[in-house]
Amino acid sequence: MQDCAGRKKEYLLNQGCARMVTDWRTGRIAMDEERDLLLGPGEREALWRQVAAAVESYVKEVDGLTVAPLLDPAAIRALVEQVRFDSPIAPDEAVSFAIDGLRNHQVHTPHPRYFGLFNPAPTTMGIAADTLVAAFNSQLAAWSHNPFAAEVEMRLAREIGAKFGYERAATDGVFCSGGAEANHTALLSALRHHFPRVSEDGLFALDARPVLYASSEAHHSFAKAVRLCGLGSGSIRAIRADAHLRMDPAALEQQIDRDRAEGLAPFMVIGTAGTTSAGAIDPLAELAEVSDSEGLWFHVDAAWGGAAAFVPELRSLLAGIERADSITFDAHKWLSVPMGAGLFLTRHPDALTDTFATAQSYMPRDAEGLDIVDPFNKSMQWSRRFIGLKVFLSLAVAGWEGYARAIRRQTAMGDLLRETLESEGWRVVNRTPLPTVCFVDGRSTRGAEADYLRAICAAVVSSGRAWLSTTVLGGSTPALRACVTNYRTGPDDVRALVDALNEARTAA
Ligand SMILES: *Cc1c(COP(=O)(O)O)cnc(C)c1O
Repeated sequence: MQDCAGRKKEYLLNQGCARMVTDWRTGRIAMDEERDLLLGPGEREALWRQVAAAVESYVKEVDGLTVAPLLDPAAIRALVEQVRFDSPIAPDEAVSFAIDGLRNHQVHTPHPRYFGLFNPAPTTMGIAADTLVAAFNSQLAAWSHNPFAAEVEMRLAREIGAKFGYERAATDGVFCSGGAEANHTALLSALRHHFPRVSEDGLFALDARPVLYASSEAHHSFAKAVRLCGLGSGSIRAIRADAHLRMDPAALEQQIDRDRAEGLAPFMVIGTAGTTSAGAIDPLAELAEVSDSEGLWFHVDAAWGGAAAFVPELRSLLAGIERADSITFDAHKWLSVPMGAGLFLTRHPDALTDTFATAQSYMPRDAEGLDIVDPFNKSMQWSRRFIGLKVFLSLAVAGWEGYARAIRRQTAMGDLLRETLESEGWRVVNRTPLPTVCFVDGRSTRGAEADYLRAICAAVVSSGRAWLSTTVLGGSTPALRACVTNYRTGPDDVRALVDALNEARTAA
C-alpha cells in the first residue's frame, strides 16, 4: 500500500500551483481537505484513465465472465472488511479494490447470457451520462438550479408520453428512482384525484374505505405502496387472471359491484402491460372501458413492456394505454439505461402538483414569475439527481429507430428461445409476444414439479454459463423463467442456455 506521506509528496509535485488558503476558524490550510476529497490534478487524471479503462474492459470482457458468482457471505464480508478507514489507501488502490469486487462478486446482468429479471446491459451513452451527472452533481429540486436538466426531463416525458398516445401539451411526468416509486406516485395521485381532502385531512377524512383493483399477477410494488399510503394491503382487490394470466374484465366488474354494495369506495384500476413473471399484457382497452364507466383512475404499469410502444409492429399490443390516466415506464428496463430511471406519466397536467406541491420559504425563488414548475413539487423526492440525461443521450445517439431495432431483436430472440425449447422437449407454459419464456420439462415425469425445476435452475446458475430463474404462474404453476433483457443476446447465447438446460436435465 502506498502510504499517506507518499501520496502527499506526489500531490505536492502535481499541485505546483495550488492555492493554499488558511481557514481563519481552524488555522488549517484547505490543501489537506482538497488532497483527501478532490485529489490532485495528476491523481485525478490517472484515476479517470483507470476508471475509463476498467469500464471499457468490462464492456469488452463481460461475455467471458461466469454469469453468477459463488455465494459465500462470510468470505464476502471478510473481503469488504479489508479496507480500513483508519489507514487510508491510494485512489488507484481503492478503485482497483472496487473493480475486483464488482468483477468477481456480482451477477453480471450485462452478460448476454443473463436471462433474468429486467436488468439490461446499460447503453454506453447512459454510462457516460451518469458519469457527467455525478461530476456536475445536478440538483433537480428547483427548476432554477438546473433549467437544462428540468427541460430535458420534461421533453422526454412528453416525447415518451406521445409514444403511448398522450397529447404532448397535456402530458406531465416525473422521473423516479424506478417503477416502484412511479407506481407509488400513481397511487398517491389517484387517491388525491378522487378524494381531494386527503391532502389536508388524510384518510381520516374519508367516509368509506378506498379500494383499488389489480390482477393477481400485478407487481408487488403495489403491495408496498398501499402500506406506504396508509391504505393497508386489504385495500387491494386481486382480480382473477385468465388462462393466459391477463386480468379478467368481467371479474373486475363483478368485484367493483360487490365492493360498492358493501359501502367501499373504489377509486383505481391498475392494468399491467408486461407482467414481471410471464410478460402477460392485460386487456388494456377493456380495462379502460370499465374504469371509464365506473369513474375510476386507470393506471397502466408498463414498467418493462411499455417499450413495445417504440416498435411500430408491436404498438398494437398496448392498445388502450392512451386512455390511461397515468403510466409507469422504466427506462432502466427495456431502454437499457443504467439503473435508477423510472418514469411516471399522466395526462392530467395538475395531478402531480395537486399531490406533491408544498410551499417552502428556503427554496430558491429565482424563477418566480417564469412559466415553470419546480420538480420537487411534482415528486416524492426533494433533492433529486438528473435521471433523464442517460435516457436523453441514449436516445440522441440511437434515435427511435435504433431503439426499435434493439427491442425488435430481443423479441426475435425470445421467439427463437421458445422455438428451440419446444423442439428439444421443453414445454412453454406462458403466452406472450414479449421475450419472457416460462417453461417446464416435457420429457421428465417430474418435469413440472417445483423441486425439479429449482434443481435445474440451480445447476444452470451454478455452472456460471447462464442465468435464469424460477417462478410460479397464476399462484400455482411452477416454471423456469428465461427473459431476454440484453440487446446483445444472440442466437449463440440462446443455444448456450438451452445446452446448459439440457445438460442439467440429464444430470437431474
Ligand atoms: C420492474 C417492475 C416494477 C418495479 O420497478 P423497479 O424499477 O424495480 O422499482 C414494477 N412493475 C413491473 C411490471 C415491473 O416489471
